[in-house]
Amino acid sequence: MSPSRFDALVVGAGPAGSIASLVLARGGARVALLDKATFPRDKACGDLVGPRGLQLLADLGITVPSSLDVGDMVVVGPTGRRVMLPSFEGRTYPDHATAITRTAFDAALREAAINAGAVPFEGRAHEPLGEDGGLVGFRTDRGDALRADFVIGADGATSQVADASGLVDGTRVLWGFAVRTYLDQPVDRPVIVIWERSRWRAFPGYGWIFPGPDGGANVGIGIGTRADRRAGAGAVRALPDFLEHLHRLGLVDAVHRRPVGRHLGGWLKMGMVGTSPARGRVLLVGDAAGLVNPLQGEGIAHAMGSGRAAAAAVLGGADRASERYRRALASAHLPYQRITAAAHAALVDRPRAVAALGRLLTAPGVGKAVAGGWTIFWNELLEGAPPGSARAIASASSLLGNMGTSRTAISRWFVTNLPEESQRREAGG
Ligand SMILES: Cc1cc2nc3c(=O)[nH]c(=O)nc-3n(C[C@H](O)[C@H](O)[C@H](O)COP(=O)(O)OP(=O)(O)OC[C@H]3O[C@@H](n4cnc5c(N)ncnc54)[C@H](O)[C@@H]3O)c2cc1C
Repeated sequence: MSPSRFDALVVGAGPAGSIASLVLARGGARVALLDKATFPRDKACGDLVGPRGLQLLADLGITVPSSLDVGDMVVVGPTGRRVMLPSFEGRTYPDHATAITRTAFDAALREAAINAGAVPFEGRAHEPLGEDGGLVGFRTDRGDALRADFVIGADGATSQVADASGLVDGTRVLWGFAVRTYLDQPVDRPVIVIWERSRWRAFPGYGWIFPGPDGGANVGIGIGTRADRRAGAGAVRALPDFLEHLHRLGLVDAVHRRPVGRHLGGWLKMGMVGTSPARGRVLLVGDAAGLVNPLQGEGIAHAMGSGRAAAAAVLGGADRASERYRRALASAHLPYQRITAAAHAALVDRPRAVAALGRLLTAPGVGKAVAGGWTIFWNELLEGAPPGSARAIASASSLLGNMGTSRTAISRWFVTNLPEESQRREAGG
């Protein structure tokens, strides 16, 4: 074996790549972990790691630097009405999320992977290296030629690995773009804001103000653009007006209502649609696989979960590793992502429908009645949710969502391109 031939090359040392590398290295694999950035590095994010992400860290025995636990979340509707979404402890996750800067979080995960034995490389995966018609590595912009039996694409939403291996159909992807800034103002609990820029015309996304671990606030706004990535700049343009809106809602002090300091934006690839997660010896994880929740934009837990699943599939033997990984992803995420990707696609160009839905869900009586089910459903927490009325509402939403979206173009894309879940359901699995 040449010194730069590995069992696995992991491109990208965000949460997906670091967890994949850590699990592979702990399992005895020789892993190269490549990232174009010098760590610690920042990443545009709301900085909230959800309950499933925290559970995964606990399962793997990974500790991260000090962070702030957050529980209940508030949703503010288009008319300013508020609904409190209660947090729940499930059978398979804790009752809270945690706020931590990505600079600290990602550096800690990468460090854990290196401590487990992954070999770090700095440089951009630049020129794909092939053997027998398949991708086996990359030459980096610094001249390293890294080859491996498996290539794991953990290089984020605009993945070079996905492009180089022809795993993305850009016309089908549900893109989003979000931008965040920090304010030097304390916030009690996470708040999500459904915003009408003019009456009955909802912004095609949502904004947030989350507590920061250092006593400040993380504020941002995200826009859904479907396949049109030019529309992503709309989030950046909307940020100042959104901060004014937060001020009018009483959520941001007068002194803070203009963005201060550096704001940072990033792409989200949502709902899995348009990306095939694996073929041959190439496996995509995290944002590269489009695993971001299409309703609320969470992706860190999915990134880490898919990193672990990809590593387990590779450690299970070279034969059929990609099939094992596709099945694991389909079973963990498809039931939810298929429904919510279709719902997202249907709503993103319909500002009146989003306004109506936002008003309905935050209407007096309605919001309170559905709040528990809303928490469970849109945070993808149904599997492992505690029994009770909230779980029943979330199950009913899932069932109705399934019926309402099963004939959409997005559903058909999944049947054709990721048939594993439909087969499992037909087999009663
Ligand atoms: C503004 C915003 C707010 C968000 N808020 C939240 C939130 O609060 N909670 C949540 O759970 N999710 C949130 N998300 C989503 C979340 O950030 C992602 O889902 C998560 O970062 C995915 O992790 P990843 O490891 O797949 O990719 P990334 O974290 O994007 O990591 C990819 C890594 O690959 C490296 N890379 C890229 N290209 C190359 C290359 N060619 N060669 C070498 N290295 C490369 C990058 O430097 C990077 O380190 C938010 C996203 C945005 C944009």
